[in-house]
Amino acid sequence: MKLYTIRTFLLDLVFPKRCLGCQKELKVKDAFFICGACFEKIALNSGIRCHICGLRNKKGTCRRCRKKTPLTGLFAAGPYQDQILKEMIHRFKYQSIESLKKPLAQLIINYLEKELLNNKLKNYVLTPIPLSLRRKINRGFNQSELLAVEISKYLNLPVVNLLKRKKFTAPQADISDWQKRKENISGAFEMIDSKNQSGRYKKVILVDDVATSGATLEEAARVLKEAGIKEVYGLVVARG
Ligand SMILES: [Zn+2]
Ligand SMILES: [Zn+2]
Repeated sequence: MKLYTIRTFLLDLVFPKRCLGCQKELKVKDAFFICGACFEKIALNSGIRCHICGLRNKKGTCRRCRKKTPLTGLFAAGPYQDQILKEMIHRFKYQSIESLKKPLAQLIINYLEKELLNNKLKNYVLTPIPLSLRRKINRGFNQSELLAVEISKYLNLPVVNLLKRKKFTAPQADISDWQKRKENISGAFEMIDSKNQSGRYKKVILVDDVATSGATLEEAARVLKEAGIKEVYGLVVARG
């Protein structure tokens, strides 16, 4: 048994399967920690907005902001302020409840369908934001990678790990100042095997669980663009 499986098993014993929204006891087969009614209550974001200025835009980043960001667009399924959504992400990450990848990925899929993005995202590869090895061992998994794998089954796009962590950084969530977040993440990523990877892919969708300032996705996108990738979208469950 893999380490994270044992961990998940033990956590399941400690935390009985109650819906994390309404606390109702769930059936064993409802292994996703949320009941259908609470899942339905999560309000998905409406429309696509430029992640820099907030303007509604069909593609993502608006024309005016294009020079300010390496991201072609940033798609977020829901608002991080949503209490149930926040709780789901929190437990997924900090209590290592792996099975939450299913409903969280489902929210992204529902959002893509609602905004008719699923048919537009062709010929892309999905690249998860990498974790440092230390954090991955602690958590037992990389949450972004699990989400990317779930989404890939739906979009029929391959998951390609193009990036790795170059340095250990403080968690972005612990830093409130935007400029400091940017500094903290600066230089954090590099391409894996850049000699072989550069030029092989033209379009990438970066997958992460949460984007607050967007600094992590922007830094990752910057590295990919420098390596010759033409289009980089960010795709997250929630935007803070
Ligand atoms: Zn519930
Ligand atoms: Zn804009």
